[in-house]
Amino acid sequence: MKQLYWLGMAAAALMMTACGGGNSGEGTAGDQVVNVYTHRHYDPDKELFARFTEETGIQVNVVSASADELINKLQQEGEQSPADVLITVDAGRLYKAKEMGLLQKLSTDTLSQRIPSKFTDPDGYWYGLTYRARVIAYSKDRVVADSLKSYEGLTDPQWQGRILIRSSSNLYNQSLLASIIATQGEEAAAQWTSGIVANFARLPKGNDRDQVKAIASGEGDIAIVNTYYIGKMLTSDNPEEVKAAEAVAIFFPNQADRGTHINISGAAVTAHAPNKDNAIRFIEYLASKEAQAVFAEANYEYPVNPAVPAAALLQGWGEFKTDSLDLNMLGKYNADAVRIFDESGWK
Ligand code: FE
Repeated sequence: MKQLYWLGMAAAALMMTACGGGNSGEGTAGDQVVNVYTHRHYDPDKELFARFTEETGIQVNVVSASADELINKLQQEGEQSPADVLITVDAGRLYKAKEMGLLQKLSTDTLSQRIPSKFTDPDGYWYGLTYRARVIAYSKDRVVADSLKSYEGLTDPQWQGRILIRSSSNLYNQSLLASIIATQGEEAAAQWTSGIVANFARLPKGNDRDQVKAIASGEGDIAIVNTYYIGKMLTSDNPEEVKAAEAVAIFFPNQADRGTHINISGAAVTAHAPNKDNAIRFIEYLASKEAQAVFAEANYEYPVNPAVPAAALLQGWGEFKTDSLDLNMLGKYNADAVRIFDESGWK
């Protein structure tokens, strides 16, 4: 059995890329490894994983793919899965993995100290590492902040032909709509999607950064985007990105009611983690002051650890009220969100 297991590990290691130097992570006895399946697509993570290896001697093996691909992989691998940790950029997908029995419960003093309960699964199956707000970016030249109020307000005819937002296949949009379903019901959610579609500046295309660029080039006036992309663009090596981001200002919607929609990037220990202790150490490390400062300063995400401040750039946008919805609801209403998007013609 032991032999069989290590064979599985060696095969799986072929598809992994080792971060942080050291041995190959193929799992000969005595090796200290943690195998991470991640949907995070941000460069500073590599640096962070290398630092973890330096501090602990635990090799980090990374498989990068979309959350759905990683969840399918976990399911197919079953008990033989080499994965110890699943990291997503969306609470909804962590909920899905939890519901599919792919995760295990976890509770440590260090984690509860470092991560406030509002960013964790109430049952302990997943832990938020950072949070991000999905905000309104608006043209400084063509929009006055006073005309903005809420996500719902963007369905007003004054915004006809002016709104830029990416495809409905994107998780960030699916979770935003799931939050509207959870708080206002399906009918209101359907009205919202139809109203936004009626106000599209163009058919959805590109990523969040592309929506900001389209404001700068005058294709539209309002975009719905995640906060960290604005931070990354403003500090980008690419002068075009800086220029585009400088053309917009940030508005936090729904401050007078439920608060601005937030989502987390979070981590969980997989149900059959072969290196469970290392997995826990890894997640605890990602919630540490040192790692949280990297998420904040290098990737412009809001750190969950209250001991770590947000980047000065983000602090400059001011404090804001976040929607306090149980983040599991983003997963619970995901299928409804996908259906409502389809019915509204939001591709
Ligand atoms: Fe992202």
